[in-house]
Amino acid sequence: MRIAQMYARRGPVVSFEFFPPKTDAGYVNLVRTIADLKRLDPSFVSVTWGAGGSTRRKTIDLVTRIEQEIGITAMAHFTCVGSTADELAASLDHMQEVGVENVLALRGDPPRDQSSFRPVPGGFGHADELIAFIKSRWDFCVGGACYPETHPEAPSAEEDLRHCAHKVEVGAEFLITQLFFDNRDFFSFEEKARRAGIRVPIVPGIMPVTSHENIRRMASLCGACIPAPLERRLAAAGDDAERTLEVGIDWATEQCRALLEHGVPGFHFYTLNKSPATRRVYQALFAA
Ligand code: FAD
Repeated sequence: MRIAQMYARRGPVVSFEFFPPKTDAGYVNLVRTIADLKRLDPSFVSVTWGAGGSTRRKTIDLVTRIEQEIGITAMAHFTCVGSTADELAASLDHMQEVGVENVLALRGDPPRDQSSFRPVPGGFGHADELIAFIKSRWDFCVGGACYPETHPEAPSAEEDLRHCAHKVEVGAEFLITQLFFDNRDFFSFEEKARRAGIRVPIVPGIMPVTSHENIRRMASLCGACIPAPLERRLAAAGDDAERTLEVGIDWATEQCRALLEHGVPGFHFYTLNKSPATRRVYQALFAA
């Protein structure tokens, strides 16, 4: 099913994001995690595209396996990194052949050995170009990324928003946000986006914190702020992994409750391939 149709219906659309594991054991674990989360009846799941297209095959294989064997709609993330337009076209042809319907089109993060993003000759420099390319030849339902706290490379929030609006103009049918921990950032971004003429669903990306160290690293990479009250609670939990997990689950649940009241179209959970935290947040929100 096309994901844009899901957002057009009433009721929160809940999605879970996974990345393709490196090892066979990781793969087996992931299939178990997804089967575990299937009981929650997610609207769809998504599978990331590794840096430099390194997971190309695995992403597409996992998406088709989730759809065909587990029976959940799945979306493939897809990036410009390290590929020419012809190579991207070959991947898109392949995805079409195997029945993928939904693509999250991104510029992508640079590979670890590169400090900044450099398009390959004959490739694309930005997500809007990729989206326009996809829409020119294929019939995928396409989403894009957006940044409540502004993309870290953007010279200004206004410029970032202008580029975001262009993604929608050229064909993005929904936008999923980068992770954020302070809903005020989402509300303010959404308001500006609506004023800029962006009418498509803007879906909050939520990551329940499970490790203080990891979240500090990820937040700084993504340009996301950790609000002082959350920082204090995490500091109070110290090295106690259980307490940290509880803090993360409580924070994400409160965040989602307020977002639901605000009327968001759904949530996209960054699961980091683990189910317990996301499952607990989901159950706190939706268990009858
Ligand atoms: P763009 O929209 O191209 O924006 C990148 C920067 O360029 C921004 O600063 C923007 O303001 C600027 N810009 C945009 N268009 C133009 C233009 N036309 N001219 C000049 N400047 C412009 N990364 C992966 O590698 N694999 C994944 O699977 C993946 N999944 C993600 C899922 C979500 C929901 C999100 C939010 C991010 C994901 N990322 C993933 C990370 C993403 O690739 C990075 O954040 C990347 O740095 C930017 O990608 P983008 O698609 O937003 O790029």
